Amino acid sequence: MSSTAGQVISCKAAVAWEAGKPLVIEEVEVAPPQAMEVRLKILFTSLYHTDVYFWEAKGQTPMFPRIFGHEAGGIVESVGEGVTDLEPGDHVLPVFTGECKECRHCKSEESNMCDLLRINTDRGVMLNDGKSRFSVRGQPIYHFVGTSTFSEYTVVHAGCVAKINPAAPLDIVCVLSCGISTGLGATLNVAKPEKGSSVAIFGLGAVGLAAAEGARIAGASRIIGVDLNSNRFEEAKKFGVTEFVNPKDYDKPVQEVIAEMTDGGVDRSVECTGSINAMISAFECVHDGWGVAVLVGVPNKDDSFKTHPINFLNEKTLKGTFFGNYKPRSDLPSVVEKYMNKELELEKFITHEVPFSEINKAFEYMLSGAGLRCLIRMDA
Ligand code: NAD
Repeated sequence: MSSTAGQVISCKAAVAWEAGKPLVIEEVEVAPPQAMEVRLKILFTSLYHTDVYFWEAKGQTPMFPRIFGHEAGGIVESVGEGVTDLEPGDHVLPVFTGECKECRHCKSEESNMCDLLRINTDRGVMLNDGKSRFSVRGQPIYHFVGTSTFSEYTVVHAGCVAKINPAAPLDIVCVLSCGISTGLGATLNVAKPEKGSSVAIFGLGAVGLAAAEGARIAGASRIIGVDLNSNRFEEAKKFGVTEFVNPKDYDKPVQEVIAEMTDGGVDRSVECTGSINAMISAFECVHDGWGVAVLVGVPNKDDSFKTHPINFLNEKTLKGTFFGNYKPRSDLPSVVEKYMNKELELEKFITHEVPFSEINKAFEYMLSGAGLRCLIRMDA
């Protein structure tokens, strides 16, 4: 048992006091974990669009003060009552969505959408008692998606913690907590391209590039990257993308361009943009008879998907996925092993690095569209 178990820990955390304002490094008090909770020492974290979106609080009910952060790697400091499969010292990835292992979803081989621990961006408190484990000078601070990793210590539900190989470098595999696993799983678990097949990837951000990495691992022979920003193409080559299409360069729909390039359509497509037009194109560009399109991007609230039903009759399949269909606790350890056995390359996703004291720089990089992932080192 660690010497801090059962005690309140004082440590540094980056607190968002107001929407869109720089985070402030504060001394926070982190309460011990309650039943089915674990307290983690975070060693590395990174910033993702979801943090920025809720920090900007455009179009949502603001919830401040709050500690953001959900992609991270750390070590278990102590565990609460009832936690049997984690112990102090375990190396873990906290995940924004969970796996209780008890509900119908967790018991189904087809679903990763746990009833109890599915992503909840509005909760801001722990499930056990409806309260926060963080406070600054006595004021409670809201949690974010159950992870709040922009803190040296955080408390997480045990069902949102994946225990991984302790030999895995946490400063690299921490990026598997969210977007990279999503793109990778969208291809490997849902699109499932066969060796030698053709795959179109719509959107070459981190999620799309991870989907391309999945296509490379699956042995696809043609990986066609589609993006409105031609600057993405150079970087995408590192991820196995073999051809590029910018829809803006053509005066016909991009699905027709892709059909001409591929003798009728690609075998698989993965949409990672959030644009409804790209979603429709991604579906319509797959080959009839066997083509499968997978939607990953999060659309706008009022979007609706329109396509002619004949596309379905012509045996094109449309699917969608949440977190690449990975169950966090059961499946993430094996994704880490893919990295350990050199099947999966992760270093190329980490394009920037800052010490925790300069976390606001990570926001600047993301807002300016620079790079893919900015690693934040908690010990620096
Ligand atoms: P990103 O913004 O970094 O990249 C998106 C890319 O798509 C950009 O390069 C942009 O130029 C391109 N794009 C936009 N509209 C396009 C269009 N019409 N045609 C072609 N390209 C277009 O985003 P990201 O971090 O890579 O995430 C991609 C999407 O995945 C987002 O919508 C995100 O919310 C979603 N997401 C979903 C899940 C899930 O579980 N389903 C998880 C994480 C992220």
